Amino acid sequence: MSTNVYDVIIVGGGFAGLAAAYHLAGRGAKTLLLEAKGLASGASGACAGRAQVSESPRGLHLSMALAGLKRLESLEEELEFEFEWRRLGNLILIYDEDKLLWWREQVALLQQEGLEATMLEADELGEVEPHLQAEGCLAAAWALEGHLNPFKFARAYARAAQERGADIRAYSSVTGFESNAGRIAAVRVGDERFATGAVLVAAGAWTGRVLSMAGAWLPVQFTHAEAMISERLPQTLHNHVGLADFYETIHAHSRAVSVGAAQQKSGALLITEAVEQSETIHRRNSTWGMAGMARDFLGLFPDLANIRIVRGWAIASPFLPDEQPAIGLMPGFENLFVATCFLLTITTIPLLSEWIAALILGDPVPPGLHLYSPARYVRESG
Ligand SMILES: Cc1cc2nc3c(=O)[nH]c(=O)nc-3n(C[C@H](O)[C@H](O)[C@H](O)COP(=O)(O)OP(=O)(O)OC[C@H]3O[C@@H](n4cnc5c(N)ncnc54)[C@H](O)[C@@H]3O)c2cc1C
Repeated sequence: MSTNVYDVIIVGGGFAGLAAAYHLAGRGAKTLLLEAKGLASGASGACAGRAQVSESPRGLHLSMALAGLKRLESLEEELEFEFEWRRLGNLILIYDEDKLLWWREQVALLQQEGLEATMLEADELGEVEPHLQAEGCLAAAWALEGHLNPFKFARAYARAAQERGADIRAYSSVTGFESNAGRIAAVRVGDERFATGAVLVAAGAWTGRVLSMAGAWLPVQFTHAEAMISERLPQTLHNHVGLADFYETIHAHSRAVSVGAAQQKSGALLITEAVEQSETIHRRNSTWGMAGMARDFLGLFPDLANIRIVRGWAIASPFLPDEQPAIGLMPGFENLFVATCFLLTITTIPLLSEWIAALILGDPVPPGLHLYSPARYVRESG
């Protein structure tokens, strides 16, 4: 059995793990990242690439999202890698009076915070999105967010982390931990053993499973989410278009479709999302999900009926019972950290990953980060 020694080992090669590796290596920590499959093969490579801000309620998340958006503006330069960053409007279609009230207040808040945002009447939508036929829509909220290519975003962090000396190993599934009195001494990948000063588990929907290998517990749950992408088209959509009741819809039913669509820089239309509550992690598309997304997409864009869909995919998307992230030291452990279940991941990860690195290295972090401590979940005995 061979042994290698690291200051920090990260489990998971999605946005969270890769961005943390970049900051840890930049601060001089000897860092190893272990990814079970290819880099960004989890939710990071399955996502829509939006740098979301509009839905964020007042408080830490909104200030992080706004600061993150600003950070993203210069991140390609910082990481010396282009990931197709651009500003893109988010057009949110509103169909009920309660939502209309909420969005009017939210748009006023976003404006106060300096984000370009406005309310649009239903009869103005044709000017903004010529192909859209939003029958029954009362109004829409619009905000100027951002968009990027998720694979290139992950690649940018991976490459920059490697340039700073991080060791990144794909196809290296963590199979166990060696620990003693709440201290993880080593991480195992099959027969290989990696000694370490600290571990960060950033394994997305697999986080609960990985933590349990160390005898730790976090009630990570997940939904099963599907999306699909079209052939390349000439300019067709000008914004990301989605529905105001996305979160309510996907959380209220065991199966639901809440359609959203945006045109990628390549010209392809990325259409999201069919969601099913799930107790198992798998990557299968379903007939109801694909058909449901197609039906709802054509309900909004009937004249795009002849576009060809070239690929569909599915992935587990994690969440905790309080729908807040878990970031911090696992209770009962001296050196086992977790970072998962993010909200507005692309927008917040540039900042959060810097704070996660500081936390692991024992440096000061913004006081608000304690709100996300996994210590809020303690398993009841018996
Ligand atoms: C359809 C869809 C659309 C989305 N759209 C957006 C969007 O537009 N904007 C946005 O900000 N967010 C979006 N999200 C959410 C976003 O994708 C996730 O929040 C984000 O990718 C999570 O990153 P992560 O690094 O925490 O997890 P992941 O990307 O899931 O990474 C976890 C990694 O851990 C690895 N792993 C698991 N077990 C092990 C093991 N034993 N050993 C080693 N490695 C292991 C996995 O293989 C995986 O690669 C979307 C999600 C979905 C499903």
